[in-house]
Amino acid sequence: MNVEETVNGYYQQIIQRNAGEPEFHQAVSEVLDSLTYVLKKDDHYADYALIERMCEPERQVIFRVPWITDEGEVRVNRGFRVQFNSVLGPYKGGLRFHPSVNLGIIKFLGFEQIFKNSLTGLPIGGAKGGSDFDPKGKSNREIMSFCQSFMTELHTHIGEEVDVPAGDIGVGGREIGYLFGQYRRMTNRHESGVLTGKGLTWGGSLVRTEATGYGTVYFTQEMMGAHDDRFDGAKVIVSGSGNVAIYAAQKAQELGATVVAMSDSSGYVCTPEGVDIELLKDVKEVRRARLSDYAKETDGVTYHEGGNIWEVEADVALPCATQNELDGESAIMLADNGCRYVAEGANMPCTPEAIETFRKRKVFFAPGKAANAGGVATSALEMQQNASRDSWTFDYTDKRLRDIMRGIFKRCDRTAREYDREDDYVLGANIAGFRKVADAMLAQGVI
Ligand code: NDP
Repeated sequence: MNVEETVNGYYQQIIQRNAGEPEFHQAVSEVLDSLTYVLKKDDHYADYALIERMCEPERQVIFRVPWITDEGEVRVNRGFRVQFNSVLGPYKGGLRFHPSVNLGIIKFLGFEQIFKNSLTGLPIGGAKGGSDFDPKGKSNREIMSFCQSFMTELHTHIGEEVDVPAGDIGVGGREIGYLFGQYRRMTNRHESGVLTGKGLTWGGSLVRTEATGYGTVYFTQEMMGAHDDRFDGAKVIVSGSGNVAIYAAQKAQELGATVVAMSDSSGYVCTPEGVDIELLKDVKEVRRARLSDYAKETDGVTYHEGGNIWEVEADVALPCATQNELDGESAIMLADNGCRYVAEGANMPCTPEAIETFRKRKVFFAPGKAANAGGVATSALEMQQNASRDSWTFDYTDKRLRDIMRGIFKRCDRTAREYDREDDYVLGANIAGFRKVADAMLAQGVI
C-alpha cells in the first residue's frame, strides 16, 4: 500500500467508528492530509498504530446536568469532557456552553487542542468539554445553578495534575468563577491550578482575557512581516464580538489598523472609521447586550441584520466567531476584494473549500491551531504563576505571549520550508504539532 492509501485507510476507519460527527471528521482529515508528507519521509510514524491511537480519545465522559430555573422548573442538559491526549502534560482545553454542542463538536475541538498545545512548546495535553446549555437570556442565578450542577459531576475528572479546563464560547470570567467555587466546595481545596481564566484576586493571570485575540494579531503580524506587510494602515474584518473578537480588534487597532466590520450570530456592523473598543466592551461585557445596540449608539455605523460580513472590503480577515463560518463562496469574495491575509482566531472557522480558495488565490492563511494558541499558552502561564504562588505584571506576561506567538510562527514557517511548502502554514502547524506529540507517544509505549 502506498502512503496515500494508508492514510485514506485511517480516515475511512475514523468515519466508520465515529459516525455522525462531521466536524470531527473534518478536523482529522486536515491533519491526515499533512501527515501524508510526514509518512513519506519518516515511515516509523506509522508504527505501533500511532496515528490510530492519536485519533482515539484517551477518555470521554458524558453526564447529566440537571438544574432549576428561576420559575422552579427542572431542566436537563448534557455535559461532556473529552480527554484526548495527555502525553505532553495534564489535559488542557476549554469548556463551551452553546446549544450546538454535541460529542462530535467536542471531539473536533479536543483533537485540534492536542496539536495547538504542542505548538506552544509548553507541557500541556489536549482536551475539551462543555454542554448544550444555552446561557443566552438566562439570569445570573440560573447560570450559577447550572455551573454548580455541571461541576458537581466534572470535579471527579479534573485536577491541577490531571485536567485543567478553561473558558470558550459561552464560558467567560463569570462562569469560571461559579465553576471554581463549586470545585472548592466539593473538594475542600483551594486548588488554583485546576481552572484557568480565574479572577485576578483569586489566582487569575493578567493578559488571560486578552490573550487569544492579542495572540491572533501577534501571529498575523509575524505572517505579514514575513511578506513585508504590516497592520499599520490596513483594513481588517473581525467576525464575532465575543472574547476573542474584542481583543483581536483592540490589538489590530493599537497597531494602526482600522477594524471595518464585526459580527454576531444575528448580523454584522460596518465601521468604516474603526471600532470604539471601550463602547464595544461596555455593550458586550458589562451590559451583555448585542452588536445591534452598539450600532444604535455610534454615528457612521450601519447594522446589517442577517448579512454576510465577508462581503466587506478588507486587507486582512480574522474570523473569530465559530466553526465553518467562512465558506468557499465567502473566501472567493474576500480574495476578489483584495484580502491578502486570513488568520483564524476561532477554531476551524474556515471550511476546507475556503482554505483551498485561499491557497489557489495566494491569500496567506494561518490555521487556528497556530494563530489562536495564545489563549491556551497564557492559561499555561497562569498555571505557572499558580504553582509558584506568584503573579506577573501585564507587560511581562504580554511579552511572554508575544514571544510564544513568534515562536509558533517560526515553527510553522520552518516546518513548511523543510517540506518544500513555503507559506503553507496549515502543513507547518500540523506537522510541527504532530511530531512532538508522536515522538513522546513512541517514547512512552503503547498506552
Ligand atoms: P464568546 O462566546 O465570547 O463569543 C463568541 C462570538 O461568536 C459571539 O459574538 C457570538 O455571537 C459569535 N457567534 C457564535 N456563533 C455564531 C454563528 N453561528 N455565526 C456568527 N457569529 C457567531 O466566545 P469566544 O470569543 O471565547 O470564542 C470564539 C471562538 O474562538 C470559538 O471558536 C472558540 O473555540 C475560539 N477560541 C477561544 C479561546 C478563548 O480563549 N476564549 C481560545 C482559542 C479559541 P452571539 O452572541 O450572537 O452568539
